[in-house]
Amino acid sequence: MKLFLKDKKELFEDVISFSFNPENKISWIPGQFLQYYLEIDNPDDRGSDRFFTIASAPEEETILLTTRFFQRGSKFKEELRNLNIGDSITAEGPWGNFVLNSGNIYENIFFIAGGIGITPFRSIIKSLELNNKNLPITLLYSNKNGEVVYKDYFDSNKDINIIYNTGILDENVIKSNIDGVNVSNSIFYISGPEPFVKNIKSILLDAFNIDNQLIKIDYFPGYDMD
Ligand SMILES: Cc1cc2nc3c(=O)[nH]c(=O)nc-3n(C[C@H](O)[C@H](O)[C@H](O)COP(=O)(O)OP(=O)(O)OC[C@H]3O[C@@H](n4cnc5c(N)ncnc54)[C@H](O)[C@@H]3O)c2cc1C
Repeated sequence: MKLFLKDKKELFEDVISFSFNPENKISWIPGQFLQYYLEIDNPDDRGSDRFFTIASAPEEETILLTTRFFQRGSKFKEELRNLNIGDSITAEGPWGNFVLNSGNIYENIFFIAGGIGITPFRSIIKSLELNNKNLPITLLYSNKNGEVVYKDYFDSNKDINIIYNTGILDENVIKSNIDGVNVSNSIFYISGPEPFVKNIKSILLDAFNIDNQLIKIDYFPGYDMD
């Protein structure tokens, strides 16, 4: 399918949100992702396609892609950054099962995001808001540099409990936020760079004895720790 660039917003110097109009209406479940393809002359060894989570809710109808750029980044990102309004990009999908279970049975739902790993949570939370559904969600959003992507949106959402953390999200920070919570009746969703996700998952398993079945993860390869 083809997507046409509708808008490009610099959220921070190195973080850009792209919104696309799909050629034909697409349905997706909040938390899912697309695979994007660009025509690149002499692509680098990382190739011409990438996966990005759809950060928008299906009810918004546009496809929101938010990503971080690096000084010596990939050719793919360079081409993506240079897209002009009206340009098209090819995408396939949606795919992925990092989505909310239908019919919540948990007392608490914890979303734990590292940096740009916030994208699936933005989609899920926005969709719940647009459907007037209120679930017992706590978003623990960690950033190493204080660049909190979508902060204005999350601050305006009064339905969820949000905790921002700057710096390393360690056992003590997690403990201070889940103390007193019935963890056996809670579910944990973790999204972010691969090392972040692995680290938080092992803290939940080892330090808090949380059942593996109650932890859902979404890896973003290609980034260092966030
Ligand atoms: C299911 C899924 C969903 C995802 N969703 C998102 C999302 O919503 N937003 C998002 O930003 N990412 C997302 N990702 C990750 C995304 O697909 C890319 O892997 C990530 O953005 C890194 O992009 P890049 O490889 O173009 O490298 P860059 O972002 O350009 O660079 C990342 C790091 O790699 C280094 N680097 C760059 N090029 C090379 C090279 N050729 N060789 C060695 N090192 C290099 C850079 O210096 C930097 O440290 C998702 C991944 C998956 C699997």
